[in-house]
Amino acid sequence: MTQPAKGPDTASCPALVIGQACGPGPAARTPSRIGSGIGAGALAAVLPNLFFHPLGTRGRQPVPALKSSRGPAVPCPWTSSGPSAHGSATERQGSTMAPSAAQRTVIENCAIATVDAGDTEYASGHLVLAGNRIESVGAGKAPEGLENVVRRIDAGGHLATPGLVNTHHHFYQWITRGLATDHNLFDWLVALYPTWARIDEQMTYAAAQGSLAMMARGGVTTAMDHHYVFPHGSGDLSGSIIRAAAETGVRFTLARGSMDRSEKDGGLPPDFAVETLDGALAATEETVHQHHDASFDAMTQVAVAPCSPFSVSTELMRQGAELARRLGVRLHTHGSETVEEEKFCHELFGMGPTDYFESTGWLGEDVWMAHCVHMTDSDIAAFARTKTGVAHCPSSNARLAAGIARVPDMLAAGVPVGLGVDGTASNESGELHTELRNALLINRLGAHREAALNARQALRLGTYGGAQVLGRAGQIGSLEPGKLADVVLWRMDTLAHASIADPVTALVLGAAAPVTASFVNGRQIVENGRLLTVDEEAVAAATRAEAQRLARIAAQA
Ligand SMILES: [Zn+2]
Repeated sequence: MTQPAKGPDTASCPALVIGQACGPGPAARTPSRIGSGIGAGALAAVLPNLFFHPLGTRGRQPVPALKSSRGPAVPCPWTSSGPSAHGSATERQGSTMAPSAAQRTVIENCAIATVDAGDTEYASGHLVLAGNRIESVGAGKAPEGLENVVRRIDAGGHLATPGLVNTHHHFYQWITRGLATDHNLFDWLVALYPTWARIDEQMTYAAAQGSLAMMARGGVTTAMDHHYVFPHGSGDLSGSIIRAAAETGVRFTLARGSMDRSEKDGGLPPDFAVETLDGALAATEETVHQHHDASFDAMTQVAVAPCSPFSVSTELMRQGAELARRLGVRLHTHGSETVEEEKFCHELFGMGPTDYFESTGWLGEDVWMAHCVHMTDSDIAAFARTKTGVAHCPSSNARLAAGIARVPDMLAAGVPVGLGVDGTASNESGELHTELRNALLINRLGAHREAALNARQALRLGTYGGAQVLGRAGQIGSLEPGKLADVVLWRMDTLAHASIADPVTALVLGAAAPVTASFVNGRQIVENGRLLTVDEEAVAAATRAEAQRLARIAAQA
């Protein structure tokens, strides 16, 4: 247990906020755990440190909102740079640059859930970000004597976690929300394909901005878009999506999708909504060459992603897998989403979806698949054996009455599992942080009941699990020295969360927690729930205008 420490007098350092020590102070350095399995006694022992922190000679006081020494600061002996180095929110807008490797940001006095292999947690700890990397994380105050500290954040009353990782989405659907609201998957698809087939570059860009903004302000630091609708003459859709991601400032994977099985071939999409086999493969390869970055701290990656068994030919599945492996990129598709899909596969291919995927080269550690709701024991064993990943999308599965994925069984078997928003035409909220809660609750309605998932496991799905399925677990998904500085500070001291017993439980089971700060690659993109990188009101207006334009065009078709 971390003992409250008597901090030094702050009067000589007016740049610092109430409660923040100028200088390292005699902070307690005993590691604490707020980990799973915590008993009632231990809970009582750590509670004071979760929501209260030492305030020098003033004793314990409720913690004020997060503040930092950035801004009109008076130079302080503990910070090595003056006010000009702090930068303002306005100055940061539009910048795509991470801080230089020499610049340090110190975050202190917050609860920390690292989501490392041992689920290490600190009741009151620190993080040091150096450039775009995490330099240190641990209990108590940051190490003394750090040089080139350009920002020092008192994060009392907050929980720090790894940034959330979204593993399945369709950004373009942002402008077709609220339609076909009482349909199952196949009926919903048939109802919406004719509208989706009319999208153009301007619509896709606005929809991507909306999708990204909504996720980013809710703690997503790594996003993905599975985009598979490429109408003829619609412009550079992939380029517009990647541009929107760069402007928002999130780390991003574009899953370049495709469809070539239309109604005339027994598929679901209308004939005018699909590409040819050769056209889809060539465009996908071009997108990889143009945009994929394989480096450790890549902000943009590309995956090969034919849409689904019922909209893609067997040849496109097979050649798509070959293309991805030749180019060294990952593979993504939808799988085993509904009973209707299972029936379709048996009728058309004479086997279930997982056997079909295996026959076309689509099981492997470089593959992740959305949904996987209808999986037999042998399907789960095949995923575990091949380390094929799963993007679990609980809200979308409920919205489309698809069923409950067997996440506890997958985890027990060793299948990598992350969380996905899915397209917002089947999950209008477009948020990922609420999927932590929904994953826990929906899985408890399944066979494993109260033992299905706990709060720590739900947080792991949304962070490290997501990093695994995107092939980036070595770089993101947990707060560990050397990893990329993708960090979220969740405010836990307000009406919504202040009386919940522990902060991880508060994050997962409580109301959607406000994001006070979100860092991607060391760069702050959210402050007090607002995006610093794009104008939310302008994005909202653009998405509404584009939704109306698409509706008009679709009605005239
Ligand atoms: Zn989907």
